[in-house]
Parts: sequence; structure tokens; C-alpha cells
Amino acid sequence: MTFTVNGKGFKRLLNTFLVLAMITTMATSVYAADPVPPTAPTVAAIPDVKLKDLTAKPNVIVIATGGTIAGQVADGDPTNLQNYRAGTYTMEDMVAQLPRKDKIADVSTYQFGNKGSGGYLITELYDLSLAVDQALKTYDGVVVTTGTDTMEDIAYFLDLTVRSEKPVVITGAMRPWDAIGTDAPANLYNAIKLAGSGKTKWFGTVLMLNDVIQAARDVTKSNAHRLDTFETPILGALGYIDQDSISIYRAPGRVSKAGKPTWSTPFDLSKITKADLPMVEIAYAYQEAGGGAIKGFVADGAKGIVTAGTGAGGISAKMSAARTEAIKQGVLFVTTTRTGSGTMYPSSSDGIIAGDSLNAQHARMLLLLSLAFTKDQKTIKDWFATFGAQNVETSATGS
Ligand code: ASP
Repeated sequence: MTFTVNGKGFKRLLNTFLVLAMITTMATSVYAADPVPPTAPTVAAIPDVKLKDLTAKPNVIVIATGGTIAGQVADGDPTNLQNYRAGTYTMEDMVAQLPRKDKIADVSTYQFGNKGSGGYLITELYDLSLAVDQALKTYDGVVVTTGTDTMEDIAYFLDLTVRSEKPVVITGAMRPWDAIGTDAPANLYNAIKLAGSGKTKWFGTVLMLNDVIQAARDVTKSNAHRLDTFETPILGALGYIDQDSISIYRAPGRVSKAGKPTWSTPFDLSKITKADLPMVEIAYAYQEAGGGAIKGFVADGAKGIVTAGTGAGGISAKMSAARTEAIKQGVLFVTTTRTGSGTMYPSSSDGIIAGDSLNAQHARMLLLLSLAFTKDQKTIKDWFATFGAQNVETSATGS
């Protein structure tokens, strides 16, 4: 476990340890009801911010989980843009190498883990979310670094679970830290700048790569290699960063609920244990798709299944038969489209919920969290229509 405290003298260091001891006690109580022992790292090691607020600069902490941004090129060859070991460098080292960060923030780091995004378990995302909230009790903003492969899954999990309204910015890179033409340091720098700016307060989690800011709910990885891989189909980006200018041109619907009880989702992880997080899977539809995937997921213990349907959510006859059987066994389904965009509207079918405009991987996170908090289908349907749809709430829109 690695963290930096931007060494400002022994007295401050002593303070840090006192506060860390306090945080350790607090963290123990967060986990007190959890029958699954928390695995390291835990929220206990978030470094204290009080050391930094002596300056007028924002206090930003980077919570690092690995990915290409922390990747090292293979064979020491900086032209190895695709051949590298992800999750190798520590965030402490990377931040130390960032030039002119004094212009934008006091930066601390917390090494949550160091591996590829796809290697994280949902139970680890539970820890990550608690760590982010723990950090936001004192820091002005959090940057989370992850691999880009499942960044949209992780981002939406954080968007749905973090309680604080302070900025959470997730970033990563498409080229390793030490490669020629790497995007890693610039992405890290701009993510810190954005988190420290406070401009996305009340936005929930936003994703920032390649200078573009996008909403966690709507963003998706669209290309296996390109630097501009992240896109928000139909709705578009929230804004972008051009050197010192951060331009925000639109806000997620969530912002219209700023300060209202409806801003907070029901998914307060401190109220559940890791054991409450159920298995939820995704079944992909295609020409004459069989029912085996759905049957297999059910046999494996899935409590919910998201279908990525053709067009407006259609699935094959065999998939449909398997779904009907699974619903009888109490499995809950959510309909999405494999087309990449478009809204699924509610139907009256028992056991099937419309995924609104969430893509399959986002709908899966919402279904998973919903089932962790209730078994009541009606409630989950309501949550998809409210916290899932996240429509703008103003008197102008009649809501
Ligand atoms: N395999 C990497 C990961 O998702 C890719 C990346 O970081 O962009 O961790």
C-alpha cells in the first residue's frame, strides 16, 4: 500500500498518523456489520488532507487502481504502444513526475490496487466506492484512475454509489505511461485540474480522457485502440479542457436535483454487506441466438440478467423461452439494446424491466445494485425509471 503526504515536516507527519489512527477506527465501524472481512486495501489509509489546506489550492487525491495509464512498455521499448504491462507504475511515482502540478492542486495519492480494470471484483468496487467517499470527507475532489476496458462499468458503479456531491473524475489512458506519444500524463494532469476546479460538483462521476468530459451514465468505450475511444452516443460530451480553460456546455440530468433528496441514489453501500451483492449477467442477442446463455446464468446462480437485444430490445424465440422459464424461478430481467443507443420503454410484463437508454453494462450495474437493496420488483422498476433514466427535473419539463 503506497501513499504520499507531500512531506511538509515531521510535525505534520505525526498529525497524519494520529488522524490515520482515527480514520482506522472509523473505517472499522463502517465494516462492523460486514461478515466478509474487508480485504486490503481499505479506506483506512486515505492520507489526511489537513496538511495541505494551508495553501489556497484545491486538495485533490488520486485513488489509483492500475490500468494502461500505469503501464510500462515491454522490453523498455517506448514504441511498444500496444505491448506493455498494465498496472506497473505506482501513482506516487507518476504524480511525482507530473510537471507544474503546483499550478492546479495539492495532490495526494492512494494506491488502491494496481491491475487491469477487468480484474476487479464487484466486491472490490464496493471498497473503492467507500474509499472515494472517505476521501471526499476531507478532499475537495477525487480522481480515480483505472484501465479503460471496464472504465464505464466502474464509473457508473461509482456514480450510483458515492454519496458525496463533490467532484469524482475517472481517468486512464490508451497508451502506457512511458510510451512515445503517451496520453497518460496529460490525462492525469487534466483529470486533477478538473477535480480541483469544482466544476463538476453535483454531476456525480464524470469520465475525462483525451481532454473530453463525459457523464458516467452515458459514456461508452467505442474503439479498442484509439485515444478518442470514449463517446456518449446521441447525447454528446459534457464539455472539454483546453489548457487552462475548462468548458462545461451541458450537465447530466442529475444536476437538476442538486441539493434535493432525489439527487442521492438509494445505493448507500454502508447499509449493505458485500455478501448482498448478487450475480447479474448479460445475455447478448443475435440471429437465432440459443437459450443456453440464459439457462447457464440461472444455473450459475444469477439473480438478474440484462438482455442486449436487437433493435428495440428484441430477443430470439429460444432466448425468450429461456427468459420465461427463468422469470418463473424469480430471476429479474432488464431489456437493453445492442445497437449502442436508444431508449427501452416500460412494458407491463412481469419480471422484465425497461433499461431506458442505459447500455447493457450500465443497466447491469444498476440491476445488480438494485437487487442488493431490495427484492421488490416494483421498487426496482421505479428506480430504473428515476435513478436509471436520470431525466432533467425542473418545472419547465413538468416534473
Ligand atoms: N487492459 C487495460 C485495462 O483495462 C486497458 C486500459 O487500461 O486501457 O486495464
